[in-house]
Amino acid sequence: IQCLSDDFDFFYFVQQWPGAYCDTKQSCCYPKTGKPTADFGIHGLWPNYNDGSWPSNCDPDSTFDKSQISDLIKNMEKNWPSLSCPSSNGFRFWSHEWEKHGTCAESELDQHEYFETALKLKEKVNLLQILKNAGIEPNDEFYSIDNISEAMKEATGFTPGIECNKDSARNSQLYQVYMCVDTSGSNFIECPLLPKSRCGDQIQFPKF
Ligand code: 5GP
Ligand code: 5GP
Ligand code: 5GP
Repeated sequence: IQCLSDDFDFFYFVQQWPGAYCDTKQSCCYPKTGKPTADFGIHGLWPNYNDGSWPSNCDPDSTFDKSQISDLIKNMEKNWPSLSCPSSNGFRFWSHEWEKHGTCAESELDQHEYFETALKLKEKVNLLQILKNAGIEPNDEFYSIDNISEAMKEATGFTPGIECNKDSARNSQLYQVYMCVDTSGSNFIECPLLPKSRCGDQIQFPKF
């Protein structure tokens, strides 16, 4: 019988730019705690296989339990805000992420460790600062995707995956950044494969 540990190959650590989420959805809703600061927010920490497929909803018996992460809530409200409508306090989003993705990494991380690990990963890499240092700011201007990618690679040592979406004027804009992490959740690694980017050569970095 095979041991369940390492039942995936790596994590995608995915952060979203709220300006792009709100632009594309046309209506986003600020959390009940107020408009998030203009920063990247965590979308999720997603177990993945090297061939690009991924497991999901691995343990129906392990439901989200906010009492296990009460010490992390303040940090999550700041760094993992939910922008979907209707306005929420984040629990719906976090619960979805745990049940869909987190339960597939239970061999490595329990619920508290899962959320704490994602928060720690965000602390290690300040994407907005990295881009600002390279003269790339959320001001509705267009930037070369190569320059964006290069700035992140120089600062972190690893090539990120960049996912774009389109606003109502069909502008390609910076939506999500994918970084890869080993199965322990502690170390960034070079991505075994990058997600399909669907970005133009020049992409907009929308205001938020
Ligand atoms: P979409 O429809 O945007 O491609 O993906 C919807 C959802 O599928 C995402 O929010 C995420 O939960 C999951 N997903 C999409 N792409 C990936 C991927 O490459 N790896 C994993 N683990 N999940 C993904
Ligand atoms: P796509 O057309 O982009 O391949 O997939 C569309 C949707 O199917 C994704 O957003 C995702 O929800 C689901 N999907 C695609 N591949 C996988 C996979 O390997 N595992 C899981 N759980 N869902 C997948
Ligand atoms: P995924 O399945 O793609 O990991 O997660 C996306 C799900 O979480 C969708 O059902 C979406 O409505 C919900 N959600 C709640 N808040 C947010 C948010 O701020 N950003 C994104 N991308 N999805 C959110």
